[in-house]
Order: sequence, then structure tokens, then C-alpha cells
Amino acid sequence: MTERPLSQEERRAAAALGRGADARSTDLASGLGAPRWIERVLNYCSNCGTALVAGIPPTEHRERMACPRCGFIAYVNPRLVVTTIPVTDDGRALLLRRGIEPGRGKWAQPGGFMEIDESVAEAATRETLEETGLLVEPGAIVGLYTRLEAAVVVLVFEARIVGGETRQTPEALEIRAFSAAEIPWPELAFSTSFWALRDWVERRDGEAAVPPAFPGREDW
Ligand SMILES: [Zn+2]
Repeated sequence: MTERPLSQEERRAAAALGRGADARSTDLASGLGAPRWIERVLNYCSNCGTALVAGIPPTEHRERMACPRCGFIAYVNPRLVVTTIPVTDDGRALLLRRGIEPGRGKWAQPGGFMEIDESVAEAATRETLEETGLLVEPGAIVGLYTRLEAAVVVLVFEARIVGGETRQTPEALEIRAFSAAEIPWPELAFSTSFWALRDWVERRDGEAAVPPAFPGREDW
């Protein structure tokens, strides 16, 4: 059955609701399609190898790259990055200085891309262990942050440290605990780290001074 495309009126009604609580987490306008770096690799059907063609398939509401031979649709969706803010017994946030690009030499919370065969809590625990040597128990969700340009959604857990020992890894040149007042805002690697740490600090201590906008520079 062919899906009914949204009417102009329905589109306007949906747009009027706004972009949601995490709209601040990207500078790009919504609805502009896939970032160019993703479009560049959408060339051939991964099912039969035929060149993909842009268009609105009969079952879709928007333009997609689809295969004219077998009907395969090359969907592109954001990937989930799962991260933690491990919190020490005295209430400090553990961050790492990144050993790899993007953002090498800058500070971020541990985390990474979720694998296809794990839950978010497992991904958070695994990534934190890989990058810092610490075993953590993910707790409350600090937030979910969208970055359209990177095609990611970043999930940030607050986490309790339950074991392990910090160690330097290829991914972490240095690991340090920061109090709310010590967070190195301009030296953070990503705006998503900034938004998450700002939310975390504000929730812990409403009086704490946090920059109104990301004062650093994002390499990516
Ligand atoms: Zn095909």
C-alpha cells in the first residue's frame, strides 16, 4: 500500500511544535537531508550493486537513494553514541584527554558507538572500561543530544564507579576527575560533551557557574 504523504497543513502543524528540547544541540536546520559525507558513499545498491537513484519511493515521505533494479532503499539514520560521566565518591566527574581524532588532546567523557549486539547500558560499560580501565554502573540519563552534522545522537549516563583502575589507553592520554568548578570548558572536544556536562553540573549544583555556550572549538 502506498503511504499518504503529509499534507502541507500537517507539515506546518508538526513544524510549529518546534525542534524539541535538544534543538540547541545543533546549529544546522532540520529537514535538509543527509550530511554530504554520508551522501558521498551512497552510490551503489548493497543488495545487487546497481547504481542508486534519488527520488521519493512510493512507500516513503521523503527523498531516498533507492535501487531501480531490486527496490532496495538505502536508509540513512543517525547512529547512537553511548557515553558515561563516571562520578567519583567525592562527586567529581571523570574525563579523559582524547588520544585519537576527532578532538585529539581535548577532554571528553568516555564513550563510543553502540554495537549492534548490546544494550545501551552494556555499551556504556564496555566503552568506559575500554577507554579508562574503570568498571562503571550506568545510572540516571543526563541527556540525549543531537548533532545533525555528525549524524549522531549522544546518550550520556551518569555512572557510579564500581571497580577497575584508571589506566592510560590509546584512546585516553590522561584521565582526571574534575569538580564542577574545574571542568575545562574551552578544552572540551565536542559540543555534545559541553551540553552534557553543563546539564550535569546544573543539576548537581544550581549555583555553579557554567558558560552559556560552548566556548571551545569543534574540529569535527
Ligand atoms: Zn538493488
